[in-house]
Amino acid sequence: MTLIDGRAVAATIRARVAEDAARLLAAGTTPTLAIVVPTDDEATAWYVRSIVRTGEKIGVAVRVVEERELLGPCLAELSADPTVHGVMCQAPLPPGVVRDDIAVHIDPAKDVDGANPSSLGRLAVGLPAFAPATAQAVVELLHAHGTTLAGADVVVVGRSAVVGKPAALLLLAENATVTVCHSRTKDLAVQTSRADVVVACVGSAHVLGAAHIRPGAVVIDVGTNPTTDGGLVGDVDTAAVEPIAEAITPVPGGVGPVTTALLLRNVVTAASH
Ligand code: NAP
Repeated sequence: MTLIDGRAVAATIRARVAEDAARLLAAGTTPTLAIVVPTDDEATAWYVRSIVRTGEKIGVAVRVVEERELLGPCLAELSADPTVHGVMCQAPLPPGVVRDDIAVHIDPAKDVDGANPSSLGRLAVGLPAFAPATAQAVVELLHAHGTTLAGADVVVVGRSAVVGKPAALLLLAENATVTVCHSRTKDLAVQTSRADVVVACVGSAHVLGAAHIRPGAVVIDVGTNPTTDGGLVGDVDTAAVEPIAEAITPVPGGVGPVTTALLLRNVVTAASH
């Protein structure tokens, strides 16, 4: 069984992004990401700080904008700023705020985390668009592991607009045969245990165990579930699945670091357009 090393995959991506960012800088453009932070959530603050630090290392400026109320106008203003190339609003959102309602204010050309509903729509019809970085990370990790996706049976567990749906669309674009499961799926184990690749994006600790995975399958665990001792576990019971799967991404150290690297890659891509 192989643990797919997300930190190593992320380091390779960052090195390439740093080269591209340096070229842009030499030509007079500092690739810049603006992150709107709408709450005081502690985990969010930690994640945003890690994006800022990673950006500093590879030549992407990250501007953190704390805005609690006028989120739509704030995102529109940042989208109109020619010195900003990527715009995102960090979850969680304040109570009562609907993600789609505010994300429509992000210019799709700067929508580096694929939050504007039109980005997901473009992705669905095969037009160029930024996908959410986490969904991109799923495909990137599978490529890095050398998994053949064309013709593979892939089961995605979770159908959110942030992870499950865009991951399914990206995998479909890779010519995989994709099944999407969710909380109303009749028998999850029947679906997942026939898959060559299982992508878990559920948001509940250890929902998938030995009975869900076919021998030799590759498992991408997107879930990040906090434990009582301050740690983090995925949606997959890794210890139970290890003897069965061919490969699995660890939590932490799998999807997370690749997501951050790809988000910054998207900023550099947006800045070069
Ligand atoms: P979400 O919006 O809560 O969606 C969860 C999905 O899982 C829903 O589609 C839900 O089905 C489905 N589901 C829930 N319980 C299920 C069950 N028992 N069996 C089958 N399906 C079930 O969560 P999300 O935003 O997509 O995030 C998913 C996980 O990814 C979370 O742990 C989150 O922290 C993590 N995440 C990680 C990163 C990263 O960079 N590593 C980034 C983003 C998210 P219904 O649609 O029927 O409700």
